[in-house]
Amino acid sequence: MNNLLTVQGRDMLVAKTSKKGGTCIEVKGCTIGGEQVVVVAGPCAVESEEILKETAFKVRGSGAAMLRGGAYKPRTSPYSFQGLGKQGLKILAKVGEEMNMPVVTEVMDSEDINLVAEYADVLQVGARNMHNFSLLRKLGKIEKPVILKRGLSATIEEWLLAAEYILAGGNSQVILCERGIRTSERWTRNTLDLSAVALVKELSHLPVMVDPSHGTGVRSLVVPMAKAAVGAGADGVMVEVHPNPEQALSDGQQSLTPRGFSLMMREIDPVARAVGRRIR
Ligand code: PEP
Ligand code: MN
Repeated sequence: MNNLLTVQGRDMLVAKTSKKGGTCIEVKGCTIGGEQVVVVAGPCAVESEEILKETAFKVRGSGAAMLRGGAYKPRTSPYSFQGLGKQGLKILAKVGEEMNMPVVTEVMDSEDINLVAEYADVLQVGARNMHNFSLLRKLGKIEKPVILKRGLSATIEEWLLAAEYILAGGNSQVILCERGIRTSERWTRNTLDLSAVALVKELSHLPVMVDPSHGTGVRSLVVPMAKAAVGAGADGVMVEVHPNPEQALSDGQQSLTPRGFSLMMREIDPVARAVGRRIR
């Protein structure tokens, strides 16, 4: 399998054979790629300080290691809520600090990289931007970890080559995130490709996360797919949580309630133990 990731007879930087051992990424005392399966939770978008605080308090209480929340939202329609922008970044950083949780947020535009990096501990490249090579190149020059989501219709090779752009630029702190791909299926928003997790763990030393929220688009499927992700060897799970999903400004239909999240944490715990990992 490993010869899939060679170029001109040399191993690519993402290839497992290019380095000894798996890559571990440290974010404020939290290690991604180690024994712990890191759980990242929070709303799709930062909507207000109150909502984010309530969410953070509850998910932290259930064992989430990191807080997520989008300030720049890639929405299908230009008329949908686009995120709070800089104000959202400020709220996210403030709540993260108060709750002592590292924060993850998406950067959509290469012009915003420095601003986002000022407030976020981990920068996320969204599925729609996985092929944005100028963004990837610029993220190769920063000193913060990057979560690279798999593109909507990207092959595993294209996804790993996108990661290679960041590594080749000098930033080795890349976490891959499987978030479902487009298939002919209509009853789920995307098709969560867990075989990609197992394959990428074979091919690459990079840590891999799974986002079962976007991966299914259906709240009731998030917990079973989170369990399956942990069983398949994911190093992290990222889920959307909102105190009142019916009122959420984006992705409410796939957001867990804080109570649903707490149930998820209880259910993934024995799966993690069964595969020699831990959740907290
Ligand atoms: C998100 O995490 O809110 C998001 C927009 O994800 P994706 O890029 O995977 O659609
Ligand atoms: Mn979302």
